Amino acid sequence: SLKLFQRASLFKHRASVVNYPDLDTKYSYAQLLDESESVEKQLSLDNKIDLRQERVSFFLPQNFDYVKTQWGIWRNNAVAVPLAISHPPQELEYVISNSRSKLVVTDDKHYDYIKDITKRLGGDVGVVKIPSTGDTAQYTADYISSIQYHTNTNIDTNTNAMIIYTSGTTNRPKGVVTTHTNIQSQIETLVSSWKWTENDHILEFLPLHHVHGVINVVSCALYSGALLEMMEKFDCKQVIDRILSSGVSTDMTQPITLFMAVPTIYSKLIKYIEDNVHDPAERELIKQGFARLRLMVSGSSALPETVKNRWLELSNHSLLERYGMTEIGMALSNPLEGDRVSGTVGFPLPNVLTKLDTTQGDNNQDTKYQVGELLIKGPSVFKEYFDNPTATKDTFDQDGWFKTGDIAQLDTETGRFKIQGRSSVDIIKYSGYKISALEIEREILDHPDIDECAVVGIPNEEYGQVIGAILVAKKGKKEIPYQEFKQWCSKHLAYYKIPKVILWKSEIPKNAMLKVNKKELVKLFNK
Ligand code: ATP
Ligand code: MG
Repeated sequence: SLKLFQRASLFKHRASVVNYPDLDTKYSYAQLLDESESVEKQLSLDNKIDLRQERVSFFLPQNFDYVKTQWGIWRNNAVAVPLAISHPPQELEYVISNSRSKLVVTDDKHYDYIKDITKRLGGDVGVVKIPSTGDTAQYTADYISSIQYHTNTNIDTNTNAMIIYTSGTTNRPKGVVTTHTNIQSQIETLVSSWKWTENDHILEFLPLHHVHGVINVVSCALYSGALLEMMEKFDCKQVIDRILSSGVSTDMTQPITLFMAVPTIYSKLIKYIEDNVHDPAERELIKQGFARLRLMVSGSSALPETVKNRWLELSNHSLLERYGMTEIGMALSNPLEGDRVSGTVGFPLPNVLTKLDTTQGDNNQDTKYQVGELLIKGPSVFKEYFDNPTATKDTFDQDGWFKTGDIAQLDTETGRFKIQGRSSVDIIKYSGYKISALEIEREILDHPDIDECAVVGIPNEEYGQVIGAILVAKKGKKEIPYQEFKQWCSKHLAYYKIPKVILWKSEIPKNAMLKVNKKELVKLFNK
């Protein structure tokens, strides 16, 4: 978003980014502006092409170079397409070719790798190697920028800014085109709701090719003048150690205040602490370390109640669960102040209009609740799917509401929303019932011997679909025989919600965003 540049010049003397673990080397906002200007020039001058509204992919490690490149692309009024280091080559090929990128920007280390990929794509795609900002660029409070702060007021904010590909949980990833206005709205919504300020410091370890990482963490931090500490990837021990070292006198950075992750990351942290930290004094230290943060957020998939409760015991934090998607940024959130109710995703965020299409939900039960497909409107909503007018047309209704494909339940008394899941894979149609797989998963995860579970609808001639569950036993626990499992379920679930078939596995496969592909999982039952 172009306003990011204007905001950055307000904070020019403050530290913007620090690359973990090199905490002595901080880059000021002025340096970020300067370095992004160098990238801007390198891309346009060296390539002698007009990049305006052309797509430019970038493949860089999660550090300062990533951010300066994204900004450099925007300064050319080009469309930034983030690639992830963790992407397998076929995915990279898909994104580069599907977005019809003119250039791929990368660093020295990954140049040959990217060059190989672009060769396979026919060679029309240029590959640009940018110099990595070295340690010479030490942060000093009185760093004087060599350039005038170029704030790109000549760029129309309604032009395309970014294409982010969806997680590909239900289909091949779709390219979601957002404008600068969309991105700015997505950022401002979160900055105001979660009260970001320049005193914040966030630890970033999420992959940066999804809104969670690139908007909620990176862009909100830089918009606020906060400090963004970038880790190349998530690692339990590293993250815990870093939380422990933050806020102590030897730490040269302002204290870490914010933490954003997906449910699986919280599960991993819980497991790590339970398996590795046995000394109560050490557990207490970890608890105190996390308790120093002001906010911990969870989202991208449903947060199991067991995880929320256990994390509260271990860290003193009641996780704030929110709901969003690539197409709309964040839409619903539990409150910063006030009750964070387990199993719910709270209320609409500012500037987000919501509506339920109740023809898509099961509304025969309780009038206190309204169930339907969640529809969204507002400035955060994306412009279109790239190069896919049919998909774009299908996803908006006649009145311009975006159809999320997710079924939500609204408690009409409290105004809180609950996500029942995707209509395509999580709403199981069994014998006239419409059953939320997420609700069943939440109950099953309460079983003391079950670690992970995924509930799916298996096609069935007689009933339409029957409920299947893929289960993972906790370490050291045995697989439970079906009859025993069924008996346990009967105490927690209505009879028609009890899985008819179960399969035990050692783990449930997940994609780069740590999400489960249910279309693939269903196939396991036919084997
Ligand atoms: P694709 O669209 O390619 O199938 P995807 O929908 O998983 O992939 P994203 O845009 O990353 O791609 O994810 C958005 C989806 O994640 C939402 O539509 C919703 O189904 C799910 N989601 C996000 N937050 C939550 C949450 N708190 N609880 C339950 N589901 C959530
Ligand atoms: Mg989706």
